[in-house]
Amino acid sequence: MLRLTHAPNIAIAALWADALQQAGMPASVQRYYLGSVAGELPPDQCQPEIWLTHAEHEARARELLHSLQNMPQRRWLCVCGETVEGGFEQCWNCGTDMPAATR
Ligand SMILES: [Zn+2]
Repeated sequence: MLRLTHAPNIAIAALWADALQQAGMPASVQRYYLGSVAGELPPDQCQPEIWLTHAEHEARARELLHSLQNMPQRRWLCVCGETVEGGFEQCWNCGTDMPAATR
């Protein structure tokens, strides 16, 4: 087991662990409580940590997390003039597909 990093919250921790698993790197989320006794603090006071099951995956795992953290906000301008946000590949207004250059 190797402690890879900590995540800002449990939702992001779960997302990262998931992405690692899918990439073939078993990972788990451990909650580290900022305080002595778990349960005395509200959930957002705990800092989730990402642990890799196999330390030899570290370099690849860090690379993956780096790309997850730096994913560009997908946003493109449709020919009809609408700005499409939120990762949609089709314009909600006119149904045109995202231009290939933006993908
Ligand atoms: Zn459109």
